Amino acid sequence: MSNIEKNLWFTTLASGSSGNSSIVGDGEGNSILVDCGISCKRIVDSLNELSVAAEDIKGIFITHEHTDHINGLMMLMKKYKIPVFASLGTLLAITKNKGFDNSYKKIMHKFDSSCKFDLSGFEVNCFNIPHDAAEPLGFSFIKNGVKVSVCTDFGIVTDEIEEGLRGSNAMVVEANHDERLLEVGRYPFHLKRRILGDKGHISNENSGKLIAKIWNENIQHIFLSHLSDENNMPELALETVKYELFMKHKNYEDYTKIVVANRNKISEKVIIKSSMN
Ligand SMILES: [Zn+2]
Ligand SMILES: [Zn+2]
Repeated sequence: MSNIEKNLWFTTLASGSSGNSSIVGDGEGNSILVDCGISCKRIVDSLNELSVAAEDIKGIFITHEHTDHINGLMMLMKKYKIPVFASLGTLLAITKNKGFDNSYKKIMHKFDSSCKFDLSGFEVNCFNIPHDAAEPLGFSFIKNGVKVSVCTDFGIVTDEIEEGLRGSNAMVVEANHDERLLEVGRYPFHLKRRILGDKGHISNENSGKLIAKIWNENIQHIFLSHLSDENNMPELALETVKYELFMKHKNYEDYTKIVVANRNKISEKVIIKSSMN
């Protein structure tokens, strides 16, 4: 094994119901986008800010077809022809999108949990997530002994999610709402039921319980994502998750930094070290 220290870097470009996107890179000109729920222009501007060229993006992995995850996708495919990977269900749903052109099919690739996949040295794995979309997935990317995972838009925690996230050195995990704020809030009943349902979105408390369950000292960075504008507050999400984590692992802060992903701008770019170093 080489003893040259090779790290990955990671950040989110946007997070929440108005758009989600995150990026992982190896510092050697290879990067991967997960979701592109903001406009193509905002994605490209964000890439510029991060000194990443569009050609450096070796693939776009799409968790599911909801607009807040694919808003800029058609234009990105049209302009830059970056390969797109998603489950068959998600791909089929994307083809029904207005603005879809049949020529895009050439760069769209089916990806499912039976695929162990290598893209520019990144080993990509996926796991099923319960959400009201065609065939939603969470993803993990492993390179240079570093594992980064993205898991957002899920109503309940499943064994498959726990397994998918286990061993991560950095991860994006949804902390969508505070259950009390949602209950007393002004959302109509059917929407409250959808969010609270098994295929809806995860609460701060359940997100914290999930993180506490799979936590170990190799997790360096956690980004809480997809916070509801209406039924959550960044400080509340952070404190709730930290409380759950602290109850199980009193010393977690010695190893792990937790932040809330910024809604409308790039979050802090973090360097993730290999636990093999
Ligand atoms: Zn969704
Ligand atoms: Zn979403």
